[in-house]
Amino acid sequence: MRPTIDVSPLTHSLPLAQPALLDTPATPSISAASTALAMPSVLFVDQSGQLGGAEFALLQLAGSCTARSQVVLLTDGPFRARLEALGARVQVINDARVSGVVRQGSALNCLRAVPGILRQVRAIATRAREFDVLFLNTQKALVLGALGKPLHRKPVIWYQHDILTRQHFGRVQLSIVKWLVRFAVDQVVANSQASAQSLAVLTGRAADSVPVVYNGIDASAFSRVDGADMAALRRRLALPEHAWLAGLFGRLAPWKGQHIALDALARLPGVHLVLVGAPLFGEDVYAQRLHQQAEQLGIAERVHFVGFQDDVPAWMKAMDVILHTSTEPEPFGRVIVEGMAAARPVIAAAAGGVTEIVRHRHNGWLVKPGDAAALAAAIGALRAEPALAQRLAKQALADAQHEFSVEQYLQRMTQAIAQAAR
Ligand code: UDP
Repeated sequence: MRPTIDVSPLTHSLPLAQPALLDTPATPSISAASTALAMPSVLFVDQSGQLGGAEFALLQLAGSCTARSQVVLLTDGPFRARLEALGARVQVINDARVSGVVRQGSALNCLRAVPGILRQVRAIATRAREFDVLFLNTQKALVLGALGKPLHRKPVIWYQHDILTRQHFGRVQLSIVKWLVRFAVDQVVANSQASAQSLAVLTGRAADSVPVVYNGIDASAFSRVDGADMAALRRRLALPEHAWLAGLFGRLAPWKGQHIALDALARLPGVHLVLVGAPLFGEDVYAQRLHQQAEQLGIAERVHFVGFQDDVPAWMKAMDVILHTSTEPEPFGRVIVEGMAAARPVIAAAAGGVTEIVRHRHNGWLVKPGDAAALAAAIGALRAEPALAQRLAKQALADAQHEFSVEQYLQRMTQAIAQAAR
């Protein structure tokens, strides 16, 4: 039976559309929130060892309740060290063939992985029996953790970080998700209305039946960066001190649209583009193509490929504008809220969860996804009007602090976990 959850009034609507959300008293501290709600013990499962948006969200959550919880990763990587640095106990349960089942995985691919899948299902179920709740943070984690429900019989909660459409996923994968959510998941929490709506369409559930808990961003990490001496900050990061810099943060992947930013840059003499991020999931060919594209467009000396960076607050503060260029609907887009928390004007592609964060010409600038000319025009407009850029950035910072705080995120998530555990 699916338990009812009363976090929904807090989380269903867009932040500004529902003042009650803003009135919710902030939790005094993370540990206080966990204690007050008598946080059940949780086994968190995530498929990735790499640091993507879903993993940063889990890092905050798992790092806030290390005493009675544990994290299982299905692949090893830098994410493990980041969790352990926060005191989390981490176990890696890896199987190369299961890791090889890709997003658009064919039925044959899935069949080949069956023995490995069964081993991982059993291993996760065995661990889950020792905890009150099983928290699944990614789709592979959902499949492996929920399939083992008859073995572990623990309440299952899934944090849905994806827009579940054919644009993003294969038919087989969507069917599996649909049936698992119907029969083996007790509570789904989506990271945006856009994600929740896609689940509603997939499963035939009512659109408002999936609570939304937005990611939280630690705005104080951004305010701690001393951006007053911009030249010094840029020197430290080996960036051109006096250029006008547009920053694009995120893994290098075709749907993240770095190629659109390059096309836009070609229309903007004098502007530099800083690409922060690496090809995390085997998109090396795309990364090479970006270098070639920059050469062909004659803009290579104005494009800075700086790879994956840990100190995102410093890198964001060093920019004049933050770009978001995804060509497909972004489920949430942490980088957008981070740009807002850095008090920088953000230009974002208007689709998916992005339109729940950015309000055009109020706290940022929205452009049509995949439209390089529109992106170039938006960058040009903000460059030409520093006062407008500053006004947007000021509002953006306030919105990031009030609508996407880590405290709200943890409070709502621990509440959802506590209710799933009942
Ligand atoms: N990020 C980072 N270093 C980089 C590039 C990105 O730490 O070099 C972080 C970024 O700050 C953000 C996350 O990776 O917190 C990406 O999350 P987002 O929701 O934007 O995208 P996703 O990875 O979920 O597609």
